[in-house]
Amino acid sequence: MIKTLKFGGTSVGSAANMRRVAGIIASEGARLTVLSAMSGTTDALVKISGAAKAGDNETAKATIGMLREKYSTCIDELLGANQQAATERMEDALATIANEIFTYRGEVSDKLILAQGELLTSAIFCYHMQESGHKAVLLTSPEFMHTDPEGKPDTARLGRELAARVTGTDPDIFYIAQGFICTDANGNISNLGRGGSDYSAALMGVAIGSDEVQIWTDIDGMHNNDPRVVDKTFPIRRMSFDEAAELAYFGAKILHPATIQPCKEAGINVRLKNSMEPQAEGTLISDGEDNAMDFHAIAAKDGITVVRITSARMLMAYGFLRKVFEVFEKYRTPVDMITTSEVEVSLTIDSTCHLDEIIRELSPFCTVEVDRDNTIVCIVGCIDYQHVGLAARIFDGIKEVPIKMISYGANHRSMAILIATEHKKRTLQALNDHLFDCDCGK
Ligand code: ADP
Ligand code: ASP
Ligand code: MG
Repeated sequence: MIKTLKFGGTSVGSAANMRRVAGIIASEGARLTVLSAMSGTTDALVKISGAAKAGDNETAKATIGMLREKYSTCIDELLGANQQAATERMEDALATIANEIFTYRGEVSDKLILAQGELLTSAIFCYHMQESGHKAVLLTSPEFMHTDPEGKPDTARLGRELAARVTGTDPDIFYIAQGFICTDANGNISNLGRGGSDYSAALMGVAIGSDEVQIWTDIDGMHNNDPRVVDKTFPIRRMSFDEAAELAYFGAKILHPATIQPCKEAGINVRLKNSMEPQAEGTLISDGEDNAMDFHAIAAKDGITVVRITSARMLMAYGFLRKVFEVFEKYRTPVDMITTSEVEVSLTIDSTCHLDEIIRELSPFCTVEVDRDNTIVCIVGCIDYQHVGLAARIFDGIKEVPIKMISYGANHRSMAILIATEHKKRTLQALNDHLFDCDCGK
């Protein structure tokens, strides 16, 4: 069985955790392992590049110093014979960052800075695998993970170039690669977006013809609600690709939203596992039947902006919505939820980078109102319209919460509700208490 395993930041966040991960890789017989940067690294790198751009060299220097300490400690605690080589590797990475900020006179490349986290973590980890007596080979993901001008991964090229490195070689080799990072269409180092290592693992897992992709993190699988916000959540043992994709899309942080699609297309099961507790069952995501419970899980996505568009021209007209959506398409801004009435359409977006341009282009033919700081709450389950009373159960649970938008009917697998973010916690908790019997974990 060919397995691709991915370990997130916490899983490789310390020397002790890296040791545990090496054991998991060996016992699972993982052909390919995809790693994130040690926890906190990418946030620190974002801070460094932000500080540098703002001319705050002191903060940039101090944060580089913090990273030096963090990685030196890990190297000291983890490595033996390779300590010197790993320290040199770390100094190279920190010098690349410092050079980008303090020496190079052009525009600071935050992508180059961000990439150092995964590059350094994977290098240290690979030394550890080798010192533990394994045949471990470090791959450099930007050599085979390329994106097109729209930022979409070139899966055909990935298939060819990763297979050329991995297939037909000694079956005892453990390949170690970086998640998150890639090369963009201009040949510059780039990334797949925050949390993108899960997506890297899915794409690489498909590329090498894996039988299973395992996403190892710090919790025992997909829970029925966000455990960071809600008391008494429980893990879901099995779920379908579609359900998992929906939950990830609507904010379940455990999975990057793009992770499921490549695995679903290739028919590769995805298993979510806890690296802190390898014996725990986790969650198996497969092509299987959706479970028959009315309500399976809830996810929430913050940072949602509502754009309310009003125009008398919409009344009995055709082509109006097309005109509206063309503007969003022109500015490459995805729309999540949409509701319509006689002369109004409300839609939600989570990227406001081009909002000013969008409003400018919409204004000649409609009135536009913007409402920020909202959260989409998505309830996933078997919400069949023929099963009368399910919507009532949902709303009964949150009758005290002001609801701004509702979306249901595109499928009968989910209902999405828009609320102001200030009501998120009590909404998620109320739904959890009302829709699930959390004490028996079902
Ligand atoms: P990694 O660094 O391994 O990629 P993440 O922090 O990205 O890990 O994702 C794991 C975290 O996702 C968990 O620690 C948990 O707090 C959070 N999370 C949010 N929603 C869910 C959910 N529905 N089920 C499980 N974990 C969730
Ligand atoms: N290290 C990256 C991040 O923090 C990618 C990942 O962890 O998936 O976003
Ligand atoms: Mg993650």
